[in-house]
Amino acid sequence: MLPSASGRRTRPIGTWMSENLGVIHDIVRRHRTTPNPLPSRPLTPARASRISVRHALSGPSDVVIQRRPAALIDNFNFIGHHVEGGISPGLRDRLRDVETALTAVYNRAQPVANAVATVLGGTPPSFEEWAGVTSARSWRPQSSCPPTCSLHQSGSAVDINYDLQPYIATRTTQGSTTVFGGELAGAGLQAQRRAATEVYDRAVRFMSTPAETAQAGARGTGETTSAVYARFSRVSDALRGYFDFAFLPDPRAVTRQPIADIEGATDADLLSTIPETERRPEDIGTALLEDHMQTPQFQNSHPGWPLTPREQYFRILRDYEHVRIPMVRGAPVARPADTRNPARGFLHMPPVLVETLVDVGRLRWGIADFGAHQSGDTHHFDLGSHDLTPDGQP
Ligand SMILES: [Zn+2]
Repeated sequence: MLPSASGRRTRPIGTWMSENLGVIHDIVRRHRTTPNPLPSRPLTPARASRISVRHALSGPSDVVIQRRPAALIDNFNFIGHHVEGGISPGLRDRLRDVETALTAVYNRAQPVANAVATVLGGTPPSFEEWAGVTSARSWRPQSSCPPTCSLHQSGSAVDINYDLQPYIATRTTQGSTTVFGGELAGAGLQAQRRAATEVYDRAVRFMSTPAETAQAGARGTGETTSAVYARFSRVSDALRGYFDFAFLPDPRAVTRQPIADIEGATDADLLSTIPETERRPEDIGTALLEDHMQTPQFQNSHPGWPLTPREQYFRILRDYEHVRIPMVRGAPVARPADTRNPARGFLHMPPVLVETLVDVGRLRWGIADFGAHQSGDTHHFDLGSHDLTPDGQP
């Protein structure tokens, strides 16, 4: 596991343990500051009526009437969380299998977890805390359906922990070709995707060794889910540790367009554009970097590192603006006004949850199972095909 700047400074015991023993990690995790999940939206009468009527801004001629498939199931809970919007019978059955398998794993670990908790003076996590689900949503309105209907339109897909887990830029090398993948609607943002993946590289190089390259591509032939999770987790952890030197984990949403010319902006431009509600002051960030870069560990692993601590601070400021562009909430654009905060990383599910969803539930994971061009959907799991006919006809 990569070192975490904040972990070293404020949670040395927790960090050490999380690097060494998964069971202890689960217990220690309870004592860390964790974000409060957004309140889930209740099922409204309008949604329950199976009819969603939306008026496009351009006028009444563009009124869209979209019906939910009649066979969708409401009031299904997955690990204690209501699956919003309704879900297909096929996906419900898979999620039941996943929950059953996770329950068995949790119960097997209880004696050890209880023993460790007794020694540490804490309490073991509940099943729901251990499994790490904070929200789940399946069916939702989609203006393009028909004719273009995602698997959510038939309740055959579920988004887990959407709020903190963005659709990220990916980089898949196929022979001599490199594909920068991501959300379909953002396919034209190739330069932004490339820039984002270069930030992944700078983060893993700074946090581990300069020879490392971020592994953030679609699933390779025969690659296990465990291996896919491990490499994306490594990138996410690296981003969190890297940005921690210069940024704050709050706010969770950055509601400000990235600076227009990220590489051409002066240091003064960056300081005036990125408010201190998002970043650490220059003197604090530079001091934290100086402290880190003077350690024997960093000196040994990064001989001849080309940047001074102050230069590194401004490199991190530029990288924050680059990497959050694909992490948009809403439609992908070159300068989005609402993105996730990349200082939190992008992966917020424990490995056991992901591996059970994919390997027991036989679901595709959007981060790596959508091929080179469209992988990157961190929060998305689906059946791979429509379980029901998407009922988009008015
Ligand atoms: Zn989805």
